[in-house]
Amino acid sequence: MKILAFEVRDDEKEYFEKYAAKYQCEITCVPFSLTLDNLLLVQGYDGISILGWSSITAEIEDGLKKLGVTCCTTRTVGYNHIDVTHAHKIGLKIANSNYPPTGVADYTVMLILMSLRHYKQAMWRGHVNDYSLKGLQGRELNELTVGIIGTGKIGQCVIKNLSGFGCKILAYDMYENDEVKKYAEYTDLDSLISSCDVISLHTPLLDSTYHFINNERIQRMKDGVVLINCARGELMDVDALIQGIESRKIGALALDVIEGEDGIYHEDKRTDIISNQSIAYLRQFPNVIMTQHMAFYTNIAVESMVKCSVEAIHDLINKGTCATSI
Ligand code: NAD
Repeated sequence: MKILAFEVRDDEKEYFEKYAAKYQCEITCVPFSLTLDNLLLVQGYDGISILGWSSITAEIEDGLKKLGVTCCTTRTVGYNHIDVTHAHKIGLKIANSNYPPTGVADYTVMLILMSLRHYKQAMWRGHVNDYSLKGLQGRELNELTVGIIGTGKIGQCVIKNLSGFGCKILAYDMYENDEVKKYAEYTDLDSLISSCDVISLHTPLLDSTYHFINNERIQRMKDGVVLINCARGELMDVDALIQGIESRKIGALALDVIEGEDGIYHEDKRTDIISNQSIAYLRQFPNVIMTQHMAFYTNIAVESMVKCSVEAIHDLINKGTCATSI
C-alpha cells in the first residue's frame, strides 16, 4: 500500500515513520499542498493524506479517481476543504481525523487567565526592563461568571477545567449534556450574554453561527467583558470586535483564530506585506492577545492526526471502511 502525504511539517515526520512501520505501508511525505498543477504526482499511490490547505474540489477528486487513488484522508477534524458530496458520488472514500479535546481546552483556560491578569502588557514591559505594576491589577476567576457557548467535546472539557477555579459557570447549547450539568448551569443565550464576565465560544462554524458575536450581542454584554475564541474566526465579526475594543465595551479579547487567517497563519510572513488590516490593527491593542491557530498544537494531537490518517487509509483499503469515515 502506498500513501502520498501532502503538507507534511517536520514535526509530523516521526509519526509518519512510526505508522508506516505499524501498518506496513510506504509513505512519501511532501511539504506542499495538493493542487490541480501537481495532481499527476499521485499516480501510483493508493491513498493520499492532506491537511487543511489542500482544497479538494470536484475537479481534483475526478483526477484522483482517474489516477488510481481510492481514498483521501485529512489530518484535520474539519473537512470543509473537501467536496464530500462529489466524492461520494464518484466513489472516492473520505475520512477525517480526531484528537482529544484536552489541548484546546487547556489553551482556552490559559487565554482566559492571561487576559484576566494582563499578561500581554506585563510581558511587553519586561522586554524593556519596566517592572512597574500600574494598570496591571487583575481579577480572580473565583469572583467571576464564565459563559461557555457550545458544550460539545471541547466546551465540556473547558467547563471541567474551569470547575477547579471556583468561578460560576453558565453554559448554552441547543443540546444539554448531563455531564456538563455537574459543573455548570445551562441557561438561555440572552441571559448568558448579559450576565457573564468572561465568554468563550466552542461551537462549529455553520451558517447559523457565522458572526455569532456581532455588534448587537456585544452591546448587551457586561462592560469590560472578556471574550475568548479558540473555535473558528468567522464566529466573530471582526469589525464589531474592533468597535468593542475602541469603545472599551470589551475589556479583553483573546483570539486563537480570526476571520481572514487563511494564507497567513502557519506561514512565516516576516518579509511579506500582510494586507489583512484587521489582523494588524487588532494585534496592536494592549488588551488583545492573538495567536496563530495553535490551540490544537500539542504532541498528543499531532500524533493522533497522523495516526488517524494512516490508519484510515489502511482500513479503507483493506476493510472497505474505517472509524473516521465521512
Ligand atoms: P463539537 O461538535 O464536539 O461541539 C460543538 C457544540 O456546539 C455541539 O454541542 C453543538 O450542539 C454546539 N452548537 C452548534 N451550534 C450551536 C449554536 N448555534 N449555539 C450553541 N451551541 C451550538 O465540536 P468541538 O470538537 O468541541 O469543537 C468546537 C470548536 O473548536 C469548533 O469550531 C472547532 O472547529 C474548533 N477547534 C479549534 C481548534 C484550534 O486549534 N483552535 C482545534 C480543534 C477544534
